[in-house]
Amino acid sequence: MKKARITAAVCATAMTGVLLTSGQIPATTTPSAVAASAPAALASARTDGEALQRSLRAAPEEGLETPFEQSNGSRWTSVAQARKFRHQLDAASDRVTVQTVGRSGDRQPIELVSVGFPRPKPLAEAAKGSVVLFNCSIHGNEPSGREGCLQMARDMSTTNDPNWKRLLKQSTVLFININPDGWKANTRGNADGVDVNRDFLGLKTPEAQTLAKVMRDWKPDVMNDLHEFGPREYYDTQALVLWPRNRNVDPQIHDLSQRMVNDYTGAQIEAGGHSTGIYGELVKDGVAFQQIAGDHQARILRNYTGLKHITGQLTETASRAVPDDADQGATAVNRRRVTDQYASAMGSMSMMMENRRQLARQSDQAAERATQAGADRSGVIYFSGQDNMLPTSSAGVETNPMCGYQLTAAQLKDTRQTMKLHGISWTRNDDGAYVSLAQPGRSLIPLLFDERAEYGITEAAPVTQC
Ligand SMILES: [Zn+2]
Repeated sequence: MKKARITAAVCATAMTGVLLTSGQIPATTTPSAVAASAPAALASARTDGEALQRSLRAAPEEGLETPFEQSNGSRWTSVAQARKFRHQLDAASDRVTVQTVGRSGDRQPIELVSVGFPRPKPLAEAAKGSVVLFNCSIHGNEPSGREGCLQMARDMSTTNDPNWKRLLKQSTVLFININPDGWKANTRGNADGVDVNRDFLGLKTPEAQTLAKVMRDWKPDVMNDLHEFGPREYYDTQALVLWPRNRNVDPQIHDLSQRMVNDYTGAQIEAGGHSTGIYGELVKDGVAFQQIAGDHQARILRNYTGLKHITGQLTETASRAVPDDADQGATAVNRRRVTDQYASAMGSMSMMMENRRQLARQSDQAAERATQAGADRSGVIYFSGQDNMLPTSSAGVETNPMCGYQLTAAQLKDTRQTMKLHGISWTRNDDGAYVSLAQPGRSLIPLLFDERAEYGITEAAPVTQC
């Protein structure tokens, strides 16, 4: 049974900051709360999503089962078994292509699985069309996301449902696991112990570099980042979801991401009878009373995705039994963990099916809006705060944006590869290089180069005389 959960409550936060009044806050409703306020809209989204999931689950398996499925949830698929599975899938189906797009710190291949109908489009063609990207367990000790990805890629490769064939003809679906070293060692970080999900500004790890390159080149419209969390008191739903909270994210992309969380991915998990909440928010008696995670940091993939004008989100499933699991055994809980990842991914596919043109249009227009704002020096740039919290001091916000940043020759040398991966362009000059804000990366650039940026890569000189 589902429990009553958060209503559109203002979350009292543990972080220092100015909470906005409810009128200023983007609706932070859970799927349950949305269901109460907009039953008709949600009902249609759910019906489609459920039908879509049922038909995909009915896909012929053609003999290919993951070790996790073969063991009914008692054994997780190993990194070597997963690679074998992916290549079997590639060999068995025209709809699947597996390519090595990078190498981990320990030189393991990082493979990108692309799925399309009747066959996946090549990069250049796919990038011009609709692309959904699933980041399958960036943290090596959170196995359920990558299990869900393997099953979904398999089911997409064998389904006979005409709706799925149409969807896969219109959209390219990408699955990637960028941390095979963490997978092999069952560690959160990579082989050097670095948390790759804190590296999306500096791009120091080969793993984050690979994903940044994939995002730059394939231009996804939708991204879902699959994780697991350790449940605790007041934080014990079966799954959690969250959109990008960085205040610099384009408002339309922010709202589309929030809509995906509320009306699609969260709703899809709940339609399967499982409970959801908002990542990072402790909840007591239906009221969120403290925020312990899920902040604005641009170096986290969830926020980076929004800054790249991609509709994106985080999914987390509870890695242990929670009260809603009602005394299920360990393997049943493992299956629930995977089922909820699959359902969340299904929600993203449903989002794509119903909003394909809008998603593509808003990604393009957000890039144009950013370029225009950079050229006009309009808007503001935030160095702190998040979507439900203003910065606490004037250092956290620039109300009179600069035209760009001047890099010294040494700074250019140090950062040019990183800028390339972020898709940021610059102009060489006598002093080094000028990085104009009049480009799609307008919101990202100050977070890389400003002295006020918490996770900047260098402190470059802001240019205010254009
Ligand atoms: Zn994680």
